[in-house]
Formats: sequence, C-alpha cells, structure tokens
Amino acid sequence: MISFDNTENAFKGKANSDLNRSYWLFKMVGNPTLVNISAKLAPIGLNIGFKGLIKATIFKQFVGGENITECNKTIAELGKYNIGTILDYSVEGKESEKDFDACCAETIETIHKAKNDNHIPFCVFKVTGMARFDLLVKVSANETLIQTELNEFEKIKKRVNTICAEAHKANQAIFIDAEESWIQPAIDDLANSNMLLFNKEKAIVYNTFQLYRNDRLDYLKTTIANAKQNNVYVGAKLVRGAYMEKERERAKEKNYVSPIHDTKESSDIDYNLALLECVKNIDMMGLCAGTHNEKSSLYLTELMNKYAISNTDKRIYFSQLLGMSDHISYNLAISGYNVSKYVPYGPVKEVLPYLIRRAQENTSVKGQTGRELGLIMKEKSRRNKK
Ligand SMILES: Cc1cc2nc3c(=O)[nH]c(=O)nc-3n(C[C@H](O)[C@H](O)[C@H](O)COP(=O)(O)OP(=O)(O)OC[C@H]3O[C@@H](n4cnc5c(N)ncnc54)[C@H](O)[C@@H]3O)c2cc1C
Repeated sequence: MISFDNTENAFKGKANSDLNRSYWLFKMVGNPTLVNISAKLAPIGLNIGFKGLIKATIFKQFVGGENITECNKTIAELGKYNIGTILDYSVEGKESEKDFDACCAETIETIHKAKNDNHIPFCVFKVTGMARFDLLVKVSANETLIQTELNEFEKIKKRVNTICAEAHKANQAIFIDAEESWIQPAIDDLANSNMLLFNKEKAIVYNTFQLYRNDRLDYLKTTIANAKQNNVYVGAKLVRGAYMEKERERAKEKNYVSPIHDTKESSDIDYNLALLECVKNIDMMGLCAGTHNEKSSLYLTELMNKYAISNTDKRIYFSQLLGMSDHISYNLAISGYNVSKYVPYGPVKEVLPYLIRRAQENTSVKGQTGRELGLIMKEKSRRNKK
C-alpha cells in the first residue's frame, strides 16, 4: 500500500531554502487574520513596489511564472520526478472581447507548447476566461437572448471550439474547468458538444464534475450513458468543488435549495463513488482525479489494483495544484502512477486573486494546512539529523 508519509520522497524536489519558504508560508496562511489583512494589502503592495517580495514568496510557491517561458524551470523540475505540468493561464475577471480573444490565443499557445513537451500531459481553460459571466448566467437559465447577445454567444462557442479543435489536432487532452453552478449548464453544453466532436478515438476534451454538488454523481452517470450511445469517449476530471461558500450564500440570498451537499462526508462519499463509476467504465474514459484528499487518492490506487489497471495506465491521472500536497504527488509518481500538477501562470498583478484564494483556501480547508506544515516540519527535522 502506498504511503503519503514519506517526506524524503515528498520533498525530493525542494532544496532547504525552498522548504524553509514553504514552512513560513504555510505557517502564515494558517493564521486567518493575517491572511485577511494580507489579502487586502497585497494589491496596494504591488502598486508601491512590493512585486519582488510577492514574486519571491507566495508567487514562487504556487505559480510557475509570469509567462509560459518562465514556467520552463518548473516544468523541468517536476518532470525530473515524472510529474507532468498543466499550464493554467490564471488571469481572471476580464470582461472585454479583446481580453477573451487574448485568453483564447494564450490557451492555444499552451497547446502548442504541450505538443512538443512530453512533460505536459494536459492543457486547461476556464470558460469565464473567454466569456462574459452575465451572459453565461442568462444562457444557463435558458433566458431568451437578444440578437447582440446571440452574436456574442456564437463567438464564445467559436473560441471554445477552436481550442478543442486545436487540442484534437495536436492529440493533446484538454480540461474544461467547472465553475459556479449558475453558469455550469452553459459550460456543460459547450463541453458536451465538443466531446461529441473530438472524443471519437480517445478522450481529448475533459469536462469537470464537482462532487460537492448533490446532483453530479447522477450527471456523471448520464454523461457516460450518453457517450456510450453516441460512441464517444468521456473525459472526466473529478473534483470536490471550489465555490462552496459562494454557492451557499447565493442559494440563501435568492431563496433556493443549495446544490451543495450538506456535509463534507456526503461530498466525500460521492467523490469516491464517482471514482468507482469512472474506473468501471475506464474502457471508454479518460479520468483525472483532481484532489488533495489522501483517502480518495489512496482509494483510486486500490480501485486500479482491484480492476487490474496498471499504475502507469495513461487513462488515469492524479492531479494536484503546484505548491500543495507534494506528499501525494511525489509519492504517487515514485510508485509509477501518472501524476500532474496545475501550474498557474500570468502577470503577478493578474494572478493575485488566484494567490489570495489559495491562501484563504488553506486557512478554511480543515486540517490541510496543519497536514502540510506537519510534513514540512518532519522533513526539516529529518534533514537536520543527517
Ligand atoms: C487538479 C485540480 C483541478 C481542480 N479543478 C477545479 C475545477 O475545475 N473546478 C472547481 O470547482 N474546483 C477545482 N479544483 C479545486 C477542488 O474542487 C477543491 O476545492 C480542492 O481540491 C479541495 O478538495 P479536495 O478534493 O482536495 O479535498 P478535501 O480537502 O478533502 O475537501 C475539501 C473540499 O470538500 C468540500 N467540502 C468541504 N466542506 C464541506 C461541507 N461542509 N459540505 C460539503 N462539502 C464540503 C469542498 O468542495 C472543499 O473544497 C481543482 C483541484 C485540483 C487539485
């Protein structure tokens, strides 16, 4: 059985200075007051010349660089330990057509980069990187669109289709991230129509299933059943989901029943059932388990064993975010499993919201920071004894 406690393996890629930086960072993000103050001060800090400090600390921990070229070092370092990179252009909150086209072009750049680099198993994009959020809300709610909105939505479809076609041409799998439930129907439709077009020989286009939603296990089953009927492969990235507080707040504010499970345990149960569903149907699927949860990761290794699927079978990947849960990524990779990490990149100012979310997530996710910190301390002490 694989162990995630081996810190020598987990931090193989980290020099002592990197380990110290991680130690201080996780210590700091464990303090919610400090995180909240820093989240407010960071944008001001950037304006008054603290870019260097941000780049040398939190940016270095969680981000690959300001552009694709700057990520080369991270790609090579992860690659040394058989961990793939998923370049994630993390510029958020843009709302102009020019920005949407630029994001589309940048995603295509990542596909070209991946095509020539066997350390990049997947590419990824968010539909909100190339679409106006409010329009996705309208489409998802089945509202009637006026002509200008119809034209605008055609452009969105074209951008998503161009990316998926480019991925197919490059034989490069691509993830479509899942987002808020009130824009997800539009995202699902875009993902499904492109899966139909490009997943005829293998899983190229992957949709994301958020198992913190109480309807997603059924939705996964329906997706699989439809794909069987249409003779296409399903690409499935399974995650728990990143918008829990926002989802609950909106449901309360607008007075509808929250689509999120009532308890963490229910999310965990559905996540593991979804893994089982995918493994059972692996002959017509590509699966990526996007999780920092040790039990789910371990469970997937057990399922692979039970269903006689080799550790190295390329249809199954484990994936974590850069700077988080190295004990899972490195220990899995050393045992021969396919592992990749999301490596976000973009200009410091633009990536700041992503960084703030990572810091906040690490204070709010119960036990995660404590676990990371504990392992870092264990490794520091192991190295000091040598
Ligand atoms: C490679 C990768 C890709 C990702 N892509 C996406 C994406 O496309 N879309 C997206 O939304 N997220 C995405 N995420 C983030 C992911 O959804 C989770 O927020 C994050 O990974 C934490 O969940 P976990 O599985 O690692 O495990 P854990 O730390 O065990 O679980 C934490 C998660 O459980 C759920 N949860 C916590 N408390 C409760 C509760 N009381 N009731 C119900 N559920 C609860 C929440 O989803 C929370 O984030 C991605 C993560 C990774 C690693």
